[in-house]
Amino acid sequence: MNQTQSLVSVQNVSKVFSANKGLFAKKKYVHAVNDISFEIRKGETFSLVGESGCGKSTTGRLIDHLLTPEKGQIFFEGKEISALDEKKMRPLRSEIQMIFQDPYGSLNPRKKIHELIGEPLLIHTKLSAGERLKKVHELLCEVGLRPEHAERFPHEFSGGQRQRIGIARALTVQPKLIIADEPVSALDVSIQAQVLNLLHDLQEKYDLTYLFISHDLSVVEMISDRIAVMYLGTIMETATRDELYDNPRHPYTKALLSAVPIADPTRKKSRIILKGDLPSPSNPPSGCLFHTRCPYCTEKCVKERPAVYTIKEDHQVQCHYPDILLEKGN
Ligand code: SF4
Repeated sequence: MNQTQSLVSVQNVSKVFSANKGLFAKKKYVHAVNDISFEIRKGETFSLVGESGCGKSTTGRLIDHLLTPEKGQIFFEGKEISALDEKKMRPLRSEIQMIFQDPYGSLNPRKKIHELIGEPLLIHTKLSAGERLKKVHELLCEVGLRPEHAERFPHEFSGGQRQRIGIARALTVQPKLIIADEPVSALDVSIQAQVLNLLHDLQEKYDLTYLFISHDLSVVEMISDRIAVMYLGTIMETATRDELYDNPRHPYTKALLSAVPIADPTRKKSRIILKGDLPSPSNPPSGCLFHTRCPYCTEKCVKERPAVYTIKEDHQVQCHYPDILLEKGN
């Protein structure tokens, strides 16, 4: 795996949505993504993790060019894509594919599986109908289904099988990047592991790069090479998987990790309950966005947005006091 070459580079990107309810209502804006920067390296699984509404899915849609950022730039293989119009983006469309949480919602219930999987081949290739069907059969086998499944409709499959169909559909045009947005969160735990194993095997076979989006830190631990923790549209901490789980430095990461169940009954950990509710992204706090819930908040945290500190290579944290957890003996 080449972990040094950047496939995607996100630089100081912000996305704001208008949240106006009525014609004469005071203008309101939701700061969905707030000045984030990160890179996704070729061949890796880079995960975005955080609570619902933290901006991780919006970030995926910005990279997939379904949304346009207000500020900042997004590069794909060194080419800036954030400023491209849809026509100029079209040749790159097949290189970035998405897998969704609810594959049923993204599969037209009136179409047979061979039509659904064959659709991208029809759009992006010049294959004949026979060649497309052959490719569909190959892809179904690749994701653990059978060629005869091509003649069935989406409702004839279980949730796990439907997610396999979604993966086959994403693979049709040999993408370089797959953005998987909560791909296993609607599945039973045993099926989750099967789908994660499938994604892992396909990554090795096709040299795929994944942007994996999830709220579930135990799922993220299974599949990630590097992880970014998001809160209120901002990245609070980025680290390799082992570093993040063994040596978290941001109080928010620490709190999230404390809620992950551990299978070993001899290992005890105390859950950190954060005070207060998640602030509204339409009225984000001043200074450090986490200050209203942070047990270590100081006056400086209320007033100043923290810089991003590098703890070591591949470990950055956005906090005024990057050693605070070490000092407090956590
Ligand atoms: Fe907590 Fe202050 Fe660090 Fe923000 S900057 S995480 S409020 S200690």
